[in-house]
Amino acid sequence: MGRYTGPVCRICRREGQKLFLKGARCYMAKCAIEQGQPAPGQHGARRNRKMSEYGEQLRQKQRLRRQFGMQEGQFKRFYKEALRRKGVTGEMLLQLLETRMDNLVYRLGFSPSRRAARQFVLHGHMAVNGKKVSVPSMILKVGDVIEVRDRPRSRDLATRSLEAATTQQMPTWLSLDRKAFRAEVLSIPTREQIAPIVDEQAIVELYSR
Ligand code: SF4
Repeated sequence: MGRYTGPVCRICRREGQKLFLKGARCYMAKCAIEQGQPAPGQHGARRNRKMSEYGEQLRQKQRLRRQFGMQEGQFKRFYKEALRRKGVTGEMLLQLLETRMDNLVYRLGFSPSRRAARQFVLHGHMAVNGKKVSVPSMILKVGDVIEVRDRPRSRDLATRSLEAATTQQMPTWLSLDRKAFRAEVLSIPTREQIAPIVDEQAIVELYSR
């Protein structure tokens, strides 16, 4: 199955929650969730559907996967890596997702959404520790320095996004030098700092079935 290219607000409506997939619009009254639009489809408006335990776990997984705009195969690979790591699997998964290159570009405000951040990285606008990087799924570690490459087009795009990025808070585990378009990973975020929109334990239970 290919990457979803349809209307992204539909995904939020399906999940019944804001996933911030669209940039500035997500903070406006025009947001479909703010307007109380129901889930898509003929029976989308039907509420109080009782969900099975499996259904609930699946919903949690889909929500997190869609928040990061990942396909099932890649998401599962991240889960397997989380399982391999020492520590609580659910938290490891959240940390892996949060320290992805495209997520950091979004969190730092260099791009208005994760989807745009992915494009930004793919198009070679970013560098890590002085070297050009064009892999959005790259995992960053403590001490890594990421920066928007010193090219007019790259800096121009990042400036436009930074100027508009007044709506989300800068994570405390990152330090950003706005003038230099450079940031450093100070620490790996805790679950509390990530503040996930899902119950990650339900995802672990789903994959453990
Ligand atoms: Fe989701 Fe943003 Fe669309 Fe609102 S505007 S429904 S948060 S993608």
